[in-house]
Amino acid sequence: MTRIPDMHDAEPIPDAARAEVERLFASGDLFRYHTAEDNPVTRLEGEFAAFLGSRYALAVSSCSAALFLSLKALNLPRDARVLLPGFTFAAVPSAVIHADCIPVLCEVGANYRIDLADFEAKIAGVDAVIISHMRGHTSDMDAILRIAGAQGVPVIEDAAHSLGTKWAGRHIGTLGAIGCFSFQSYKLVNAGEGGILVTDDPDLIARAVIMSGAYEANWKKHNLLQDAVARWQNKLPLYNMRLSNLSAAIIRAQLPEIPRRVRDGRRNHDYVAGMLRQSAWFHVPNTLAPEERAPDSLQFNLCGMSDADVRAFAASAADIGVKVQVFGLSDNNARAFWNWEFLPEKVELPRTRAMLMRACDTRLPARLTLEECAAVGRALVEAADSVMGPTRTYGT
Ligand SMILES: *Cc1c(COP(=O)(O)O)cnc(C)c1O
Repeated sequence: MTRIPDMHDAEPIPDAARAEVERLFASGDLFRYHTAEDNPVTRLEGEFAAFLGSRYALAVSSCSAALFLSLKALNLPRDARVLLPGFTFAAVPSAVIHADCIPVLCEVGANYRIDLADFEAKIAGVDAVIISHMRGHTSDMDAILRIAGAQGVPVIEDAAHSLGTKWAGRHIGTLGAIGCFSFQSYKLVNAGEGGILVTDDPDLIARAVIMSGAYEANWKKHNLLQDAVARWQNKLPLYNMRLSNLSAAIIRAQLPEIPRRVRDGRRNHDYVAGMLRQSAWFHVPNTLAPEERAPDSLQFNLCGMSDADVRAFAASAADIGVKVQVFGLSDNNARAFWNWEFLPEKVELPRTRAMLMRACDTRLPARLTLEECAAVGRALVEAADSVMGPTRTYGT
């Protein structure tokens, strides 16, 4: 039997990054605005915008910085209310608070996607929306854009985990007013840290570029509408959230890897999901019809188990060698809304809470072989059977 693979290690950075990093070492040229055009950050912005089919891109220090700058670029008043899903990473409501806005949480269903009835009920009185496509699960963007559009509320997409995901053939991150991506190590493209935002709106990008730290005339080194930027010269604070050339070189070398990572990640995910669907102890939510996913991890819900059973399942899976986190049962989980004690307004979300208490998360990198994926799937089924007794067994 194939051994359980290491699920945590990253892929090596492609060799193509080495020559560029050597060049940067030799020249010491690490600051994006040191040169006008021929620098890795500017090139990354052009390549990334072209890949997604967006007009503009701005590379920044993290996805959190991209979300913060997006809210600032929308020119929201202090204490503006920003609607976001109750299932996301703590950095997202944090970015809202950083932007002097108030997070308003809406319910998320057992399929990890925004509960549209609650979204619609809460949209009135909201000034902006952030859709976190959490773990790359896409909420119904047709409905969200219709509901938000009817209220004139702009939509920011938190696509940190959705690079390569498509909705009705269009890249996630290009559907709303602004899309934000992460290059932190646990995302599809790994630069340690980094982020990027994309938009088609010349005013939004102009404001974001200046506030990201394009001081004095540095905005002229971006391919922007001059009128849009000139209007904002000296009018906006500089938050200095720029990306370094070194990070951009590491990111650019991985752009050609994206199609393979998307293809293999989806293959691996669907293979293990198929195994779990043979067992009554697991529910793996289906994708929505217009959605083509790009997963690098697997989420599933445990069925018919008590809290004690769920804990015993996670312990048994860990013994066999597969680390599973139950979002709502692991200590201080940053994705459980009740741990966001920094929120200015407390909220209870019973449906989201119920989901988090049974929803499991395990990494499933694109680099795994199908044999290794089978070993992971068998381990999960075996762990559930060891706690609950066997149901129909996979493969028999
Ligand atoms: C990782 C992540 C973020 C934060 O990205 P950083 O680049 O680390 O700031 C935000 N939202 C989601 C859904 C994420 O997965």
